[in-house]
Amino acid sequence: MRGEHGVQTLEFETVIGLEVHAQLLTKSKMYCGCSTAYASAAPNSHVCPVCLGLPGALPVINREAVSFTIMTGLALHCSTPSFSKFDRKNYIYPDLMKGYQISQYDLPFCLDGYLDVEVGSESRRIGIRRVHLEEDTARLVHREAGGETYSLVDVNRSGAPLMEIVSDPDLRSPEEARLYLVALRQILRYTGVSTANMEEGAFRCDANVSQRSSDGKIVGAKVEIKNMNSFRSVERALAYEVERQREALRNGEQIEQETRGWVEDRAVTVSQRTKEFAHDYRYFPEPDLPPLALRDAENDDLRQRMPELPRARIERFQRQYGLGQAEAQLLTTERVVADYFEAAASQDAQYARQLSNWVTGEMFALMRERGVDIDQINVTPRQLSQLVTLVESGKINTRTAKEVLIAVHETGSDPEQIVGDRGLSQVSDAAQLDVVVHAALDQNPAAVADYHDGKKNAIGFLIGQVMRQMGGTANPAIVRQLLIAALEERRTR
Ligand SMILES: [Zn+2]
Repeated sequence: MRGEHGVQTLEFETVIGLEVHAQLLTKSKMYCGCSTAYASAAPNSHVCPVCLGLPGALPVINREAVSFTIMTGLALHCSTPSFSKFDRKNYIYPDLMKGYQISQYDLPFCLDGYLDVEVGSESRRIGIRRVHLEEDTARLVHREAGGETYSLVDVNRSGAPLMEIVSDPDLRSPEEARLYLVALRQILRYTGVSTANMEEGAFRCDANVSQRSSDGKIVGAKVEIKNMNSFRSVERALAYEVERQREALRNGEQIEQETRGWVEDRAVTVSQRTKEFAHDYRYFPEPDLPPLALRDAENDDLRQRMPELPRARIERFQRQYGLGQAEAQLLTTERVVADYFEAAASQDAQYARQLSNWVTGEMFALMRERGVDIDQINVTPRQLSQLVTLVESGKINTRTAKEVLIAVHETGSDPEQIVGDRGLSQVSDAAQLDVVVHAALDQNPAAVADYHDGKKNAIGFLIGQVMRQMGGTANPAIVRQLLIAALEERRTR
């Protein structure tokens, strides 16, 4: 088949593999006792001879970092070899204090797992090649003054534990790559091993992208893409790169093996380093650290520490609380939200479905409006349960309940107390409401005439009038019944 430029029109398939670096939530650094709580600390205040890379300083393995890495591997269905070791990766760069990074080469902690990713209605199984442990580098701060550029080094981040998760090249589109990252971040947050916050640099992603022809033969070399700082930029950068490679192949050009950086402002990838300049890291076993023999018993302890993971929780929420799949998915996106819902549902399980609606409806709206997370909303699970019970037992109507929710958040008082103090109890007494209903009809003859002319939606306006008169506390179902009865009665007069 011939294309418009006379070249063969080729069908391509995109092949993407991702390497994710996640900072681990340990208290101290990977090989020394320095605190990892340096985010708002003065530069170079969390340092010691080990993380400064001074000659003669000896590293010690952070046990918790090893545990977190193995927990991640277990969550990703990896095997955990019984023997593992650390290796030196040698290269020279100003952010690497020792001139080498202590990483893992041929014997990582975790191998050959997978992560199931929902892509539309399809579930895609993405292979996990390995999960290993290494250390972060110092941070370079680039400045300019008087036309001169210079760089500062902040060593606080040097030696912070960093976990690398390498996927198989199983991803077939930029969208799949983004969904894989979202699913992986969720796992890391559930297990509590990382904040996995991409904007803060706690979750960083590099991608390998290539194209192959429809007969499965690789036609383009693998290009590494760096510098993507959000889920959105990963998808945009990969989409750009896929098009760039396809265009080049269609024009009969070769794809070079190289590293390219995403430039957010210009929405392009640019060449940073070609194969000729590829590093030879000269890996060799780290002589200052012992190899590790990992016992099954310790892995079993870590399994015990593992929380229920998102997939299992979605299924249980459907089973246990009678929720729909989409609802269960929404509730379990963040572990803290799922925990909140369960704490509320444990107060009174009969209203679990209503509680789910309140969490994903009014609570989410309040969180969006105030720009906070659920644990910063000043409404305890017990108070939300109490509020829902007040609605379901007919003590207050839904409209009042929304006001009460905000009042609980602002005052911290219990819903029952707020309803009592502010006289917000729902009025269902027909005799009392009937007086207000007739007054509303007397005051709104036009709406009455509309109703009698067959404009049934005039009833909505009249309900609103009665509700306003009652300060929002009337039982809307009873008001509707009374209004219809009164209107029919007036029709026959
Ligand atoms: Zn240190």
